[in-house]
Amino acid sequence: DTQIPVAQPAPHLAVSFEFFPPKTEKMQDALWECVTRLAPLSPSFVSVTYGAGGSTRERTHDTVTRIARETGLKPAAHLTCVGATRAEVDEVAGRYWDAGIRHIVALRGDPPEGQGEYRPHPDGYAYALDLVKGLKRLADFEISVAAYPETHPQATSPEADLDNLKRKVDAGASRAISQVFFDVDLFFRFRDRATAAGIAVPIVPGILPVTNFAQAQKFSAACGASMPAWMSELFDGLDDDPDTRRLVAATVAAEQCRALVAGGIDELHFYTLNRADLTYAICHILGVRAAKSV
Ligand code: FAD
Repeated sequence: DTQIPVAQPAPHLAVSFEFFPPKTEKMQDALWECVTRLAPLSPSFVSVTYGAGGSTRERTHDTVTRIARETGLKPAAHLTCVGATRAEVDEVAGRYWDAGIRHIVALRGDPPEGQGEYRPHPDGYAYALDLVKGLKRLADFEISVAAYPETHPQATSPEADLDNLKRKVDAGASRAISQVFFDVDLFFRFRDRATAAGIAVPIVPGILPVTNFAQAQKFSAACGASMPAWMSELFDGLDDDPDTRRLVAATVAAEQCRALVAGGIDELHFYTLNRADLTYAICHILGVRAAKSV
């Protein structure tokens, strides 16, 4: 029975928030509004993604360093292996270290859309594991890596994928952040398999509050995450009703988070898509509140 008591805030829940680097000035303003709204919730860190093929190298850097300069938040920079030599990736990482950024989310990355299958750069880091090793050689970064409750789509088997995660952890990653998922039981089964495989670092659930069902379905299919039938039923008939969709989205994600917390999870990572309101509301429900000024 997975009955969870209503309004039972979690006393020791750590949260982190993920943003993407803005393209335009308007998007920059929206991001900053989002950062400012979420900052009082005292996240343990906030992370900034790295566009496909390294396309946002400078924008990611600028966003990360601005957060470090202008807020009290601890930013983490995503970094990928795609389309760059090891020397180029090392140079980007070195700039982060020099700017005081100590936390990297180390990823293989995906090729830019339309460029077919992933192929390592001939002089690049081939996989996230190689990047983790390279970063650790460079400096003592805190490193987070990606984990896949439903197995990475290109993995030869779930066992091989879990072994890859174990090797990333053994190489120095101290946290894994999960790919999007919607079925909480599925996450717990994955966590149990990871524990049985000897992975002892936290596996932090990645939470995506879904407001646009069609878009989320497309995104999930591309990254190998399944959408349960009950979710499509919940959003059925709401295509032209964004207000109700948002309320449903907050409810679904808050329920998902409460079930995770009830199962012993004490750290959550939110894919904010640079919008604060849903994440803020969900955090509030979970008992994550702005520090009160005295
Ligand atoms: P890896 O850990 O290298 O694994 C990739 C695949 O290769 C897996 O199937 C693995 O099993 C397999 N594999 C590993 N080693 C070998 C080997 N030696 N031989 C054969 N197969 C092997 N993408 C971005 O572009 N920018 C981002 O900012 C970004 N942020 C993300 C944040 C999170 C939390 C997550 C979960 C994903 C993010 N991604 C991002 C997406 C990610 O880049 C893709 O999912 C990518 O396809 C895999 O990256 P990885 O780091 O998991 O790769």
